[in-house]
Amino acid sequence: MRIGVYPGSFDPVTLGHLDIIERSSKIVDKLIVGVLNNNSKTPLFSATERVNMLKEVTSHIPNVEVQAFSGLLVDFAKKNDACIVVRGLRAITDFEYELQMSQTNRIISPDIDTIFFTTNLKYAYLSSSTVKEVAKFGGDISKFLPEKVISHMQEKFKEQ
Ligand code: ADP
Repeated sequence: MRIGVYPGSFDPVTLGHLDIIERSSKIVDKLIVGVLNNNSKTPLFSATERVNMLKEVTSHIPNVEVQAFSGLLVDFAKKNDACIVVRGLRAITDFEYELQMSQTNRIISPDIDTIFFTTNLKYAYLSSSTVKEVAKFGGDISKFLPEKVISHMQEKFKEQ
């Protein structure tokens, strides 16, 4: 069984992330979306909230699972018997960081390879941080997020 891991912060999951999940889930038997629980960052949504939102928006894809993780990505991949790491590439600015990460991971764990999906041009500009900026100032975020996530964002900003 070929298992892939798609790691990220997903704070929150955008249409760009969902596009990568839909495309990459077709080339593996099982795709595990790994939600990074990073203590050094203060996310807008807790890891549990991010996991639940991802579960909601991927419920139509039968071979996708969502889990939170902390620590090294390669350890998370190994624990789940994954041999593929999926990442998305938007622009040249992503490339340098992604290249460095994937090479480091391969040195630590030669059995795990990274596969890159180039962004859908529709979402090439899209990042969770930009969406948060727009939402913070009351802008329209409906073109950036899956429908179910929009209401979670609105509630979060009401709370704050
Ligand atoms: P990180 O904080 O690790 O960058 P993100 O949640 O922002 O995590 O992104 C996870 C992965 O999804 C990364 O590989 C990133 O390049 C990719 N990604 C994010 N937004 C898009 C998008 N609009 N199109 C394609 N890939 C994307």
